[in-house]
Amino acid sequence: MNQAEILEYLKTDDRSKVRELLARADQVRQEYCGEGVLLRGIVEFSSYCQGSCAYCGLNQHNPNMPRYRMTKDEIVQAAGLIHSSGIQTIVLQSGEDAELDPGWLAEVIREIKTSYALSITLSVGEKTREVYQLWRAAGADRYLLKIETTDAELYARLHPGMSFANRLRCLDNLQELGYQTGSGIIVGLPRQTPEILAGDILFLADRNFDMIGIGPLIPHQATELKDLPRGNVDLTLRCVALTRILTKNAHLPATTALGSLDKDYRLDGLRAGANVLMPNFTPQPYKKSYEIYPGKRCISEPTGQCALCMESLVETIGRRVDFSRGDSLKKVTQK
Ligand code: SAM
Repeated sequence: MNQAEILEYLKTDDRSKVRELLARADQVRQEYCGEGVLLRGIVEFSSYCQGSCAYCGLNQHNPNMPRYRMTKDEIVQAAGLIHSSGIQTIVLQSGEDAELDPGWLAEVIREIKTSYALSITLSVGEKTREVYQLWRAAGADRYLLKIETTDAELYARLHPGMSFANRLRCLDNLQELGYQTGSGIIVGLPRQTPEILAGDILFLADRNFDMIGIGPLIPHQATELKDLPRGNVDLTLRCVALTRILTKNAHLPATTALGSLDKDYRLDGLRAGANVLMPNFTPQPYKKSYEIYPGKRCISEPTGQCALCMESLVETIGRRVDFSRGDSLKKVTQK
């Protein structure tokens, strides 16, 4: 599919064309990824952030955000809960935590690896190549770093103090170091045009990412985007579907943001090409505090019930939970 065709699908008012797009994406998902829905248990271990991202509740200018950093023991305990739930991937996420000691995180990685058969995904932001290398050597398998938008001007406006070139450098380093690398975008950013979105989708496909997360903007009241409307669900689903068709076997989560709107749209995401869910294993009271956007799914629930909940959720659409590691299909399947 070329840029013009992508644009046509992003812009069309013809509902039958949209239905045809989503059905085609579902078929591609079925052919390349199967019926299983992979689970990744996420632990948001630090809410400290030196970033000023215009959309994110964690940003350093939000005085009402309770800041915490979990201890190594707390993180390893959360890993144990993920493992005992039958899930084989832990995602360790944090804000852009300036005080995060790379050596300490390397120790956390090593301890999880020696205690449990878990694959480790990191999502802790922009670091030097050396730091990425340290964590890779300690045993980290995967890394998530969304590009958020590929429009350099829009990127600069939304990320004061950060640079688009550095974001790309980080993604280059991660791929070179052999991380299974994930990226992604936010749908509904201010001044984001269909042309920009089409460019984003082509970028995500061209870079051959192993994982791609696409979610709607959910405005946070403590950010400068507070008065913006939420990202459009229909447009988000079209982006997921187009990304599935172009990338074929990338792992695409039905993002938590899709599940945190007026209703839970994650099932719609799974029907539009997604094949991953990310249950939250951040222990209380931290889980409530990690408010990147309001209304985040399952924020008050006790931690650890998620696997069961996900199983019944996906059964409603005739799918099943896949408890395998869910490594990248890019390296395994050459269709
Ligand atoms: N600091 C790491 C990084 O930047 O990659 C990980 C944490 S960051 C909070 C994780 C993701 O949350 C971002 O990549 C962004 O896409 C998403 N996010 C933050 N605020 C959001 C909002 N208001 N609506 C939708 N997604 C948001």
